[in-house]
Amino acid sequence: MLNKTTNYVKYFNIMVLVIIFFAVITTYNLYLYKLKVEETYHQNSLISQKIAFDSTINKFRLITTYIYDKELNKKEILELLDKSINSKEEKDRRYYKGLLYRSLYPLFIYAKKDGIRQIHFQTADNKSFLRFHEPSKYGDDLSKARESIKYVNEKKIRVNTFETGKLLSGFRNIFPIFYKDMYLGSVEVSLSLKLMIDSLKQLDSRKEYHFILNKNFIESKIFEQQKYLYTNSNINSNFVKEDTNNILEDSASSLSEIAEKINEKLAKNSKIQRLLKEGSYISEIVEISDKRYNVIFLPLEGVNNNLEGYLISYSEVNNVPTLVTHFSFFLFIIVFACLLILILLKIIKDKTQKLNDERNWFFQINNSLSEGLYVTDLNSKIKYINPIACQILGYSENELIGKNAHYLFHHHEKNNYSEKENCNILNEINNNRIFQSDEEYFRLKNKQLIPVEITAQKLIYNKNEEIITTFRDLTVKKELENKKNLLKTALNFCSDSIVITDKDANIEWANPAFEKLTGYKLEEIEGKKPKEFVKSGLQTQDFYEEMWSTILSKKPWKGELINKRKDNSLYHEELSITPILDIKNEIKHFIAVKQNITDKKNKEKEVEYFAFYDYLTNLPNRRMFNEHFKKILESFEKEKKHIAILFLDLDKFKLLNDSKGHDYGDELLKEFSKRLSKVIRNIDFVARLGGDEFVIILDNLPINYLEATQICEKIAIKILNLIREPFVLKDFEYLTSTSIGIYILDNALENLEEIIKKSDIALYEAKERGRNTYYIFNN
Ligand code: GH3
Ligand code: MG
Repeated sequence: MLNKTTNYVKYFNIMVLVIIFFAVITTYNLYLYKLKVEETYHQNSLISQKIAFDSTINKFRLITTYIYDKELNKKEILELLDKSINSKEEKDRRYYKGLLYRSLYPLFIYAKKDGIRQIHFQTADNKSFLRFHEPSKYGDDLSKARESIKYVNEKKIRVNTFETGKLLSGFRNIFPIFYKDMYLGSVEVSLSLKLMIDSLKQLDSRKEYHFILNKNFIESKIFEQQKYLYTNSNINSNFVKEDTNNILEDSASSLSEIAEKINEKLAKNSKIQRLLKEGSYISEIVEISDKRYNVIFLPLEGVNNNLEGYLISYSEVNNVPTLVTHFSFFLFIIVFACLLILILLKIIKDKTQKLNDERNWFFQINNSLSEGLYVTDLNSKIKYINPIACQILGYSENELIGKNAHYLFHHHEKNNYSEKENCNILNEINNNRIFQSDEEYFRLKNKQLIPVEITAQKLIYNKNEEIITTFRDLTVKKELENKKNLLKTALNFCSDSIVITDKDANIEWANPAFEKLTGYKLEEIEGKKPKEFVKSGLQTQDFYEEMWSTILSKKPWKGELINKRKDNSLYHEELSITPILDIKNEIKHFIAVKQNITDKKNKEKEVEYFAFYDYLTNLPNRRMFNEHFKKILESFEKEKKHIAILFLDLDKFKLLNDSKGHDYGDELLKEFSKRLSKVIRNIDFVARLGGDEFVIILDNLPINYLEATQICEKIAIKILNLIREPFVLKDFEYLTSTSIGIYILDNALENLEEIIKKSDIALYEAKERGRNTYYIFNN
């Protein structure tokens, strides 16, 4: 899962890099293409401008050549020039110069109308000879200010060039003048800038033209008083504009407002400034008020290839390639598109990441489920199964995917084969119901059957109906349930009462033995505390406190107590209470196990009783007699009373036993006891010493021995008479008698043995005397 996440991130990063790379490459290529288109456009602009310029120059060169060939290079003119230069006499030279001027003046006037600014003769030594526009000014040396003239005079070839001048600048056509194999000097026919502009405008009236001149050349040539004619160009301070105020008659008209604005913009354009400095051809698009203007700079070079100035043309253009005008827009589109793609990618990545995280999350939840889970199509073909399901079933995932769950591991009736049409899960699902059961069985790979609890229902995935089934292995649960049932049965059939309470001793459950013991039904006592209905009040408060302190200290307690039944009868119980602790070691329950020990208790009492009483007659036995008699002896005060011991033994008792059996003997012994008890007073004591021997203690007999003897005799006779009465033993009437041996104590110092011995002797004497009589021991 983590790998998939890493892959997504990796793919995303690769995509981002690809897009950025694509964006950079596209932008760069577009930029190169834009440069190329721009360059082509500017080249075309420059070429067309250059053609216009050259054709204009050529036009004027033809005109000036014509002027030269037809009007100046004529024999009479050359002759006059020769004479005006070379005549010996000053006055001759002036004369001929005057003739020369007069001969050509009409030509000058005529040419001036067509924009020819100057016709100017120079001598071979580069000095001004005759300026038709200013004839009075001559003789000045032009070699420095006018390189073109110096060039022609040296090379003696004609030139056609632009050159700044001492006063004004212009396009100059300079011709060498030869006469009779003699070099006379040169003549210049030059054009004004205005003429050039007008002529160019005739070719393309949409354009506006402007000249800027190299300030260095201008400043080095012009006279101080002429400087006012030049103002600094607002394009570049190394250039000046000529006669912007139209002082001179052939000056070009001043620039339009738009051109001025364009110039101001160009002044801030460093590329233009650099190109101007280099003297390069320049074509540039300038945008003013949403209109585009093509500005073309044609460098004007002098004879020595010096940059004399620039001819600038301005024209509004609509043919600028869209790529150039809207390059930033295209750039924006590319960047925007890339950004958009990146944002979309980021959104997709985030969504994918989120989905992946969710998927991961669900997988983790699913994998941590303790329940098996699988998804099938409606035909029970497994499409997905979780790890715990594989683990339970004992198959690997690959062994299960694509298999039919119904046939592979789910069958009916403990895995008897069944067609899937009979599958209760599929039937319920097909009826759009949720299937739930804890009585299904799955067969594991090892063929073992396990009971499972199943929940199955439909789910929709990709518009397809599927079945999601969750199941739980109930093997352990069923085993536990069986064990629980076994334990419950054991508890139900346990003869001991078992009560389970919560930590506050409220009854939660009790077994039938408890119901039987107490007489209460479980529903009557549920939620009640045992003390509310079984407490007999026979135990002390300390008893309960000790019990509670033990069990609350989490130790088991065991004890015996007497409780009360529903019918208020009491019973003894042996109770053991065990605290049941939870995982936090806190008391959660108490389990009380009670045993009814009433019978045991009673038996104990009986044993205790018969230690001192005779089981047959219920009379005190010998042991009791001994202890009782010891007590009497201890408190015996001789001066105050007499005590008499009467030993009785049935006569010929054996005969009854032998003739009628022990039952009859026993019956006689019981009836004999009853008769004895009737005879004696409350203060007297009668006990059975064993066999057919009984003893009577007559306490508190008079102090007078005789009186005491008389009472004894009286009682003995009474006993003898009473015993002579027939006994009805069951269906049999029996006559018997008893012999009585009497000993009247007068010596408290006698020990028990002696007393018994003396009583025995008396009894023996009575027997000897024929039985059915008494005998008083005589010291
Ligand atoms: P005697 O007149 O000399 O006393 O003759 P006797 O037959 O009574 O003889 P004796 O007193 O020596 O015998 C007592 C007999 O009582 C012996 C014994 O078998 C019988 N005996 C002792 N205890 C019981 C008893 O608990 N039940 C019955 N049925 N017989 C007993
Ligand atoms: Mg006897």
